[in-house]
Order: sequence, then C-alpha cells, then structure tokens
Amino acid sequence: MKEYDIAVIGGGPAGMMAAITAGRDSNVILLEKNSSLGRKLLLTGGGRCNITNNKPIKKLLNSFDNKNFLKHSFYTLTNENLLSFFEDNGLNFIEEDDNRIFPETEKSSDVLKILEDNLSDVVISYNYEVKSIKDNFIINDEIKADRIIIATGGVTYPQTGCSPDNYFLTSQPITDIKYGLVPLITKRDLSDIAGVTLYDVTVSYRKIKVKGNVLISHIGLTGPGIINLSNEISKDLTYNLLENEKVEFDERIAIDLCPDFTRDELKEKFTQDFQDKGKTMVKNYLKMFLTNSFIDFFLDEIDLDGQTQLSRINKKSKNRLIENLKNFTFEITSFNDRLAKVTIGGVALSGINPKTMESTSIPNLYFAGEILDLHGPTGGYNLKIAFSTGFLAGLSAGEKQF
Ligand SMILES: Cc1cc2nc3c(=O)[nH]c(=O)nc-3n(C[C@H](O)[C@H](O)[C@H](O)COP(=O)(O)OP(=O)(O)OC[C@H]3O[C@@H](n4cnc5c(N)ncnc54)[C@H](O)[C@@H]3O)c2cc1C
Repeated sequence: MKEYDIAVIGGGPAGMMAAITAGRDSNVILLEKNSSLGRKLLLTGGGRCNITNNKPIKKLLNSFDNKNFLKHSFYTLTNENLLSFFEDNGLNFIEEDDNRIFPETEKSSDVLKILEDNLSDVVISYNYEVKSIKDNFIINDEIKADRIIIATGGVTYPQTGCSPDNYFLTSQPITDIKYGLVPLITKRDLSDIAGVTLYDVTVSYRKIKVKGNVLISHIGLTGPGIINLSNEISKDLTYNLLENEKVEFDERIAIDLCPDFTRDELKEKFTQDFQDKGKTMVKNYLKMFLTNSFIDFFLDEIDLDGQTQLSRINKKSKNRLIENLKNFTFEITSFNDRLAKVTIGGVALSGINPKTMESTSIPNLYFAGEILDLHGPTGGYNLKIAFSTGFLAGLSAGEKQF
C-alpha cells in the first residue's frame, strides 16, 4: 500500500491549486481520471480562459447566492494573489467588459501549463479513477492518505471527466443537482433567425430580471443574458439530475427589447413619430429600436405587415407594437443540457467548514471547487470559486498537524 500525507482527487483547477498549495510542505499525490490535467479548464472562455472577475471583492461576493460561505476563501486567495501567482510565472492579464479577466495570450493552455509546472513537488497519477474511499482513508484499496481533498467537479460536460458517481464517494450530504449556465430550448423553431443577437436587452422570468445580450440559435436562446437567467429558472424548477434523466417544462420568458424606454415614453414617441413620419414603413421605423435581422420575425410574430405606413397603423396595433417591444415572450420547453457550463448543487455547504473547506462530520476530508453546492454567473466567477476554494483546502490540509 502506497502512503501519502494528502491525496487530492481530481486534476481540474480546484484540485491542481489544492495540490500545489498542499505540496509545499507535505507529501501529496494528485489522482486524475483522464490522461491529462485540466480538460475542462482548456475549454473555458471559448479556449481563452476567463480566469476570474475583477469586481471589487465585496461586489464580487454579492454576485453569489452563498457569499457568506465564500467570504473566507475569497479573502484568503484574493484576485490579486491569484493573478500574481500567474504573473510571477510570466503570464499577464487583460480586463474586458464586465470586469472579465483573461490571459494576455488568450490561451487557456497557458494557464494550464503554469499550474502543471508548479506541480513538480506532487506525485501525479494519470488515468486513475477513484472509485472508493474507505473509512480509514484507503482509496481504491491501494492508496492510503492521512488527509483527502475531493475536487472532482460537477456533472456537466462529462467528456471532460466529470461524473455524478463522485457525489457518492463519501457519506457527505448532497443537495439537488441541476444544470447551470445553460442555453434554453424554445417551443418555436428559430432556424430562420439563427445567428441574430439582441444587444443589451432585459430578459425576465417571473420576477427575476437579467440584463445582457441574447443570441438566437437554431433551437433556442443563448448568450450571457439567457444563460445567467437559466440559473434562476433551473433553481426554481423541482428536479434532481441524480434522479431524473430528462428535464422538460413549459415556462415562458419575456424580453424587454427596448429597456431604455418605458411604455409611456414609447407611447409618446410613437404618437409623435406616427404623425411626423406618417409615410415611413413600420419595418424601416423599427430599425431605430431593433436589430435589423430581427424585424421581419418580430412583425410576423405580432401579425403586422412590415410595409404598413405609420399613419395607417391603428391604436390597437400601436399598443400591440409597444406591448411586444417591452414584453416579447418565448415559450421554453427544456435546457440544451449538452452545453450546460456548470452544475448547480453538490456537497451541502452545511457540512463544510468555510474557514478550512474541511467536512464538519468527517475529520481530514476536504472539498474544493464545483463538487460543492456553489455556482456563480458567467464572467469568471466559477473559476474564481475553483481556485479560491482549492487554495484554501490545500492550505488547511497542508497546515493541519496530523
Ligand atoms: C465550456 C465551458 C466553458 C467555461 N468557461 C468558464 C470561464 O471562462 N470562466 C469561468 O469562471 N468558468 C468557466 N466554466 C466553468 C469552469 O470550467 C468550472 O467551474 C471549473 O472547471 C470547475 O473546476 P473544478 O476543478 O472544480 O472541476 P473540473 O474542472 O471539472 O475538474 C474535475 C477533475 O476531476 C477529475 N475527476 C472526476 N472524477 C474523478 C475520479 N473519480 N477520480 C479521479 N479524477 C476524477 C476530472 O477528470 C477533472 O479533471 C466553463 C465551463 C465549461 C464547460
């Protein structure tokens, strides 16, 4: 039997960061199911790796449902600490809109390379899937560790190594497992307008509103506005991926296509413009408010002939126009689960000490990253969770006197 101070299970960003931190003073083994580390990390940010979000720390924490839990890890490994770790290794960063941080080289492989280079003190076992952990911390009946850090990720993109089986490696309580940051499938076929982007619209589901771009795909809707809203829809629905195979529903989302105008402002503007520009065809007039390639579809949906001159539009049609500009609805029937970026739910936070990431019921067992019941919006928030909780778990397990 091989013996180690610490075994880290899972070589994603959380596991690698935990192993690097713990490996400074302890004898650490990193066990990875794949033949290489960080498969999901390589896909992040479309291959560019949106490594974190540079909002001030208090604002950053406010973006999460579980800010109190995350507080300690975020203050232990701040954005400054995280970025200077990579900068000290020769990788600089750029900040894009919405405080999103990317490596200057725009390559997630450069982030991975630095993590790998810093694992020189750690024994790495590739193609090693952990299937069991016995009470005496014996892994797969062949490796014994004093402390174990589980960082096996969530359930989405299974081709990167994730699996729901990992939730059952220990007796730690698990919350319902759901899709997060996931495109929505609409009842209506949208192939005619696939590729159209609606810029800076407000998308709402029940009372929740999210501002952002919406991208139309052949089968539904995606883009930051939609995938951030998808987290709220997913949390609202009752299902558990550990029990149900297919998630189907009949919900409705609304898009405010003109968030800069109130209904009253639009009404006033239309009344004036319909008089002043009476000969203008409605489809040309709408260019002021809508993306060009969306106008024909929009008019078709509200049953208004695009050739109609403004002066010929009656009060009922004018009101219908305003109502749909402010509240254009889509029926949604399921998630495009193949493209879900994160998992909502996981190891229940009530069983984890947020100051150490150690289980409160099983001493010397730690968790980090997406396996925990933690998720954030799109924009670098999820890698921030992985790196900060990974660092804290590695630090606590490494410092613990055994
Ligand atoms: C397409 C895509 C793009 C994304 N882009 C961004 C982005 O730009 N910014 C952002 O913040 N977030 C992004 N995310 C989310 C982010 O990638 C994840 O939140 C993050 O990778 C989670 O890190 P982790 O280490 O917890 O888990 P993972 O990265 O999933 O790593 C888990 C590791 O554990 C291994 N493993 C699993 N089970 C076992 C086992 N039983 N034994 C041994 N090894 C095992 C896996 O093979 C894997 O290597 C994106 C996600 C996707 C899918």
